[in-house]
Amino acid sequence: MSVKFQFLGTCAADFSPRLQGDCKDRFDFDARRASCAIINGRYLLDCGPHCPESLAIAGYDPKDITDIFITHTHNDHFKKDSVAYIAKDHSVRLWVREDAVIPEIENVTVIRMNNYEKYEANDELSVTGLPANHAEKTCPRHLLVEIDGKKIFYGMDGGWLLNRTYAHLWHQNLDLCILDCTCGDYVGDYRMGEHNSVPMIRLMLPSFRTVGIIDDHTLIYISHLAPSLHKSHAETVEICKKDNINVAFDGLRLTL
Ligand SMILES: [Zn+2]
Ligand SMILES: [Zn+2]
Repeated sequence: MSVKFQFLGTCAADFSPRLQGDCKDRFDFDARRASCAIINGRYLLDCGPHCPESLAIAGYDPKDITDIFITHTHNDHFKKDSVAYIAKDHSVRLWVREDAVIPEIENVTVIRMNNYEKYEANDELSVTGLPANHAEKTCPRHLLVEIDGKKIFYGMDGGWLLNRTYAHLWHQNLDLCILDCTCGDYVGDYRMGEHNSVPMIRLMLPSFRTVGIIDDHTLIYISHLAPSLHKSHAETVEICKKDNINVAFDGLRLTL
């Protein structure tokens, strides 16, 4: 069976004012919403402020969502009201790191996960939380999702990879590798200890290949782009093409 993956939001936290204007009811390459993705219409990765409208634009019924996996509790990735909206009429499981601070939300069961431990959500999906190099207090963590024999790495947010996370990914031969790329194609940005840039991704990928994190079949995408630090989507696509790096955009559907 194929796995359907869709990006519902691909922005860092500097959202375009156009989301309140001409992009209110539609996706646009250059008015990205908060980081969020959905697998098979049922599993949500992150649930930030724009999640309800992203689901509506993409045509998903919130009632079909059974599980929400939160990378970390920065407010562009987790918003109580968005989770409550999804869980309004049915029960939802919210998967978080063991020490995440999560408020009570009706119909929501919080499942706390230890780092590096693989959890079977059901007989088709398992998830492993891998610590990220990002702001410490918010419990940052990348997600390794395995579904129907496919492996998806959702690396939001973080700069480079922590040593044990990197080692955990060796020989995984990912089907889909999604990396934080908050910063654009320039050097010298102060955020290198918490976010990637295009030159950092260029350095990382050959090493990923050497240790079997990725191979020729892996789809590689950058996401979590800060519009203020990148050129337009079309220009970024051009910049990244020669390195086989794909640029995610809101609404992009992939089949694995
Ligand atoms: Zn973020
Ligand atoms: Zn963050």
